[in-house]
Amino acid sequence: MITSSALLLLGLGFSAAVILSVASRLLYIEEDPRIRDVEMALPGANCGGCGLPGCAAAAKAIVEGKAPADVCIAGGMDTNRMVAEVMGLKVEYKEPQIAMVRCIGGKRADQLYIYEGAQDCRAQARLYEGSKQCTLGCLGLGSCVKRYALLKPFTWDRTIYR
Ligand code: SF4
Repeated sequence: MITSSALLLLGLGFSAAVILSVASRLLYIEEDPRIRDVEMALPGANCGGCGLPGCAAAAKAIVEGKAPADVCIAGGMDTNRMVAEVMGLKVEYKEPQIAMVRCIGGKRADQLYIYEGAQDCRAQARLYEGSKQCTLGCLGLGSCVKRYALLKPFTWDRTIYR
């Protein structure tokens, strides 16, 4: 009984191995080896800064010509150069782009409504994303200062609430 069970399992295992082996050969999709090389050149941070869902997707897009060789924001010029080398392209030096939020919130931002609730930014943010016209800037209630008391030189008057 034990021998027949063992033989049955062995037969099943062998059949499965044969089926998987044939399927892997039939269903194999050849991938451009440059995709792997470009992916190796990318930082692997998968931060999405390039607008793609990760470095693997960025590498695929670069090789397929859907994204430029310098699409990686996080990697900088060195990464761009390595990617361009794999692709046989040349990249020009570009000034780094730095995001600048012009709306700083606080007293300078225009009011959307007058908030008289709990003096806490999180509470205010729950009401139409805060009382300021710009939803990106500081709400000015100092919750971050209260929370991060360690940031002593980062005083309310000087930096947050202008
Ligand atoms: S920006 Fe660079 S590091 Fe971030 S996901 Fe895109 S390719 Fe990867």
